[in-house]
Amino acid sequence: MKLRWMRAPGIFRILFPDFTWRYNSGVKKVYLTFDDGPIPESTLWTLNMLKEKNVKATFFCVGENVHKYPELFQEIIHAGHSVGNHTYNHLRGWSADTQLYIENVIMASDLIDSKLFRPPYGQIKKSQAKHLLPEYKIIMWDVLSGDYRKDISPEECLNDVLKKVRPGSIILFHNHLKTEANMRFAVPRLIDELKLRGYEFDVCQ
Ligand SMILES: [Zn+2]
Repeated sequence: MKLRWMRAPGIFRILFPDFTWRYNSGVKKVYLTFDDGPIPESTLWTLNMLKEKNVKATFFCVGENVHKYPELFQEIIHAGHSVGNHTYNHLRGWSADTQLYIENVIMASDLIDSKLFRPPYGQIKKSQAKHLLPEYKIIMWDVLSGDYRKDISPEECLNDVLKKVRPGSIILFHNHLKTEANMRFAVPRLIDELKLRGYEFDVCQ
């Protein structure tokens, strides 16, 4: 069930038309996003790889990780990437009380100076979104990489993303211990292939 939701089917896009699911500028650009960091084991590698490829991305950070690794968070910003709020404790919106949820986002905003927000697990209630939308642009995705999946190989992870990507796509990867193998294989190869196909990379805004 979770996987099915994570694919962000049409019904949720209809329920939340104010969210950004993809950029429709008509330009051949894609938007790489990395959720759940910063953590040294994954984010440092990601930053080095992006630097090598000369690509900018957007990092949706968890407040408690920023609190633990403030220098790493600063490294993301100094490298010219964009950052977004992903709650302080990676809360699951559907089971979280709305007031607690909003307070958790505000707590993260003390550490993460950004007008971008992405709900963990893609789960958010209407009542929560209503509170956040005046302050935040809520950035979802149209291409979910299977970097967290244990039932696919790194090659399948890469090929699946390549099949789904289109101009304006927002592509979701993770900076998480559980997603390392697929992510480390797929992202550099994805960047190379998309460059060959004439795509540019931009940050969410
Ligand atoms: Zn997350």
